[in-house]
Amino acid sequence: MLACLLDRPDNRVSLRDLPFPRLNKGDALVKMEACGICGTDLEKISGQLGPGGILGHEVTGTIQKAPENSQYRIGDRVVAHHHVPCYECTTCQKGDHTLCEQFKRTNIDPCGLAESFRVPKYNVARGALILLPKELSFEEGAMIEPTACCIRAIDKTNLHETDNVLVVGLGPTGLTQVQLLRKKTSGKIIGTDIIEARLEIGAKLGADKTLNPQAEKIPDVVVKMTGDGADLALVATGDEKALDQAFASIRRGGRVLLFGAPAVGAHYQLDTSTLFSRGNSLITSYSCTEAEMQEAVRQISDKLLDVRGLISDRFKLKEADKALEHARSSKTAIKTMVTA
Ligand SMILES: [Zn+2]
Ligand SMILES: [Zn+2]
Repeated sequence: MLACLLDRPDNRVSLRDLPFPRLNKGDALVKMEACGICGTDLEKISGQLGPGGILGHEVTGTIQKAPENSQYRIGDRVVAHHHVPCYECTTCQKGDHTLCEQFKRTNIDPCGLAESFRVPKYNVARGALILLPKELSFEEGAMIEPTACCIRAIDKTNLHETDNVLVVGLGPTGLTQVQLLRKKTSGKIIGTDIIEARLEIGAKLGADKTLNPQAEKIPDVVVKMTGDGADLALVATGDEKALDQAFASIRRGGRVLLFGAPAVGAHYQLDTSTLFSRGNSLITSYSCTEAEMQEAVRQISDKLLDVRGLISDRFKLKEADKALEHARSSKTAIKTMVTA
């Protein structure tokens, strides 16, 4: 079967013919139908998140071999979540499930960008194989995981219903966050990106204003629109320079949420005296759990947000290498989708 892998040591993408994964008792085999390309896939290739990694984790498919004695049947349409927490350790008990030591050790095999993949019993037993409601297409299903990550992030911000929010970076997650925020605040939502096509979509999806930082001084515009700055700045890019824009745009007492994954070893210089005297805070959010996956299924099924409109480009699995390159270099791509 065909699979798109990241070869060490030079992080080269290759399409290879692999044997089907060997199943252990309780595992599921899923035929891939759609898999979204995530910013973290691109960062794995450029080595910013460290060498190696598994490509494709926003993935849906149909069950080819169901786990024994389970609720699943051959042909069931599913979305498979790649990481699951143990739900037992002290970190899990404190609610920080995505920080559980087991979380990143769990995964699908060999990856989401493969003709078929194995979902281990460990994941299946912890609810990471979710049946897709029939009203959702496989492509919409592939948007569940990134949407779930956005839901978890916004939950961490204690958003108030009148908060003014700046969203830095209008890629697929920034655009999802704009939509989720629109349902939760009557305050201003301001989005920024250097790609004009993304600014247009951001305005359509609910941002009151979208700005290009190469053309305008973002903090000045934000302060003008909000009176004293944004209550919250949500940084949906891994570029730590975006934090400058975020900190300069929030009010006294405002907070910054770091959502995009920074490169390994990235440093950011923070003026701690200003941080302290202005009472600002920095929050982070990493990944999501089954609770947010289920919530994303509900919101997308109920048409509370448009994820279909974020899918800009489609490639077949045999062109997965081209899909990754397109997602990296295109000036128009929002979400690039790979299909069977
Ligand atoms: Zn992702
Ligand atoms: Zn745990």
